[in-house]
Amino acid sequence: MKEKWLKNLTPEQKRICYQCGTEPAFRNKYWNLKEIGTYHCICCDQELFSSSSKFDSGSGWPSFTNPISSSLIEEHEDRSFGMLRTEVKCNNCKSHLGHVFDDGPGSRGLRYCINSTSLNFKKKNL
Ligand SMILES: [Zn+2]
Repeated sequence: MKEKWLKNLTPEQKRICYQCGTEPAFRNKYWNLKEIGTYHCICCDQELFSSSSKFDSGSGWPSFTNPISSSLIEEHEDRSFGMLRTEVKCNNCKSHLGHVFDDGPGSRGLRYCINSTSLNFKKKNL
């Protein structure tokens, strides 16, 4: 990640976004949020996920069936902690967002499990 994206982050945001940390399940900002709007990257403000693709996965983290566009994110193989997972990053600033799993609902069967700390929700003005 570039220095310019890092300087405005809190220590907790740096831990998650830059050091690929994970926040606690159910004790994060957005896991149960049901408002209509878009979720933006906390670092660079690129929009990433829409509330229309958010679903209750029971995991305790915000979960989405898909990003707004697949071009907005990058996926990388992650073999940390002895597991094979797919890491999801913002393609603009390379901030760590979370992981994608193949046990989701919907036609693609994907579950994007994202840290609230990596996101900034913007409510849609109706
Ligand atoms: Zn970003």
